[in-house]
Amino acid sequence: MIKFDDLGPEKLIEVYDPKLQLHGFLVIDNTILGPAKGGLRITPTVTLEEVARLARIMTYKCALAELPFGGGKSGIRADTKKISREQKFELIRAFARSIKSLSPSEYIAGPDVGTGEAEMAEFIKANGSKKSATGKPLKMGGLPHELGSTGFGIAQAALVATQFLKIPIKGAKVAIGGFGNVGQFAAKYLFQLGAKIVAVSDSAGTIYNPTGVDVKKLLKVKEKTGSVTKYQNGQVFGGGEIFFLPSDILIPAALGDVITAKNVDKVRAKIIVEGANLPVTEAAEEILYKRGVLAVPDFVANAGGVISSYAEYRGYNPKQMFEEVSRKVVKNTKLVLEKSKKEKITPQAAALKIALERLKAKEK
Ligand code: NAD
Repeated sequence: MIKFDDLGPEKLIEVYDPKLQLHGFLVIDNTILGPAKGGLRITPTVTLEEVARLARIMTYKCALAELPFGGGKSGIRADTKKISREQKFELIRAFARSIKSLSPSEYIAGPDVGTGEAEMAEFIKANGSKKSATGKPLKMGGLPHELGSTGFGIAQAALVATQFLKIPIKGAKVAIGGFGNVGQFAAKYLFQLGAKIVAVSDSAGTIYNPTGVDVKKLLKVKEKTGSVTKYQNGQVFGGGEIFFLPSDILIPAALGDVITAKNVDKVRAKIIVEGANLPVTEAAEEILYKRGVLAVPDFVANAGGVISSYAEYRGYNPKQMFEEVSRKVVKNTKLVLEKSKKEKITPQAAALKIALERLKAKEK
């Protein structure tokens, strides 16, 4: 059920073309701060409801990051493992044409699950305006997701959280659930900060080595074989086990709703940095808070991607973009954790309060 409240959603659009087998969704949640910003995801299961939930997260994320963007999201239902690259591009172009009257004026696309710089290039070609999507290739004047802004921001948020709990980042044990764009760069940057990556999962399973994996080697294994489970030096578990292995910092970086009231008691980490959108349910957030586990909310920790979109919009270079991601994510993570401590509310509730205050201030 899609909920309507005083923020939105302003527009819900579903497009269908039986000839092309295109089934797409666009939700413009709120445009108080500017055109709605949010990624285009391609998965076999995406629904209008899922897109609406994610669009709302984008409204909060942009408000919290003090960006001149509203919240939106779009999706195409397709199984990219079963169609060719050209068929996928055709779906993107058809979708871009069908929502052209709203983009870039009210909606600006970006990469998400199943899309990257090449897909954004196709979206722009069909739309006709370079302003209709961010995350485009460098040669088109873009700052592609492939630079790793979100994973970089996750590492920065994790660093702030460790400082907050006075845990040294050097040697801190990290478990990362999902080894795509977010997970890989989070691993790379946390490794650079001296953390020990002890567990990593992807859709094939989990690799665990309590003494730490070599991230560079793991990246190569993933690229060559398609799965982290082929990394020779460690124990292999099922994908879901990653959340319950011993670690200091747990980063769910793949799917939503993976930590729930039902399984949260098995989580052993001291810090959770939410890389994916909505990976921890509200009920689980409450339980974690009562147990003293610090959970940095998704729309605080994973804002690097949309901050990079803003940097691209402003014509920044990659160095300026990384500086902006670091500045905003560090500032907001500190603000949220301090507010949570002071007001004795979950970090999620604290972040929501700040985002809503920023939205209301603009409304006046
Ligand atoms: P991606 O498609 O690049 O990677 C997804 C990863 O999840 C892959 O490694 C895949 O193997 C893994 N995965 C899929 N099913 C799994 C399962 N059952 N168990 C374990 N792993 C599984 O996607 P991404 O861009 O890294 O995005 C990941 C999450 O982060 C999504 O929820 C996305 O909405 C969110 N997010 C991404 C960005 C970004 O900039 N990429 C920004 C904000 C939020």
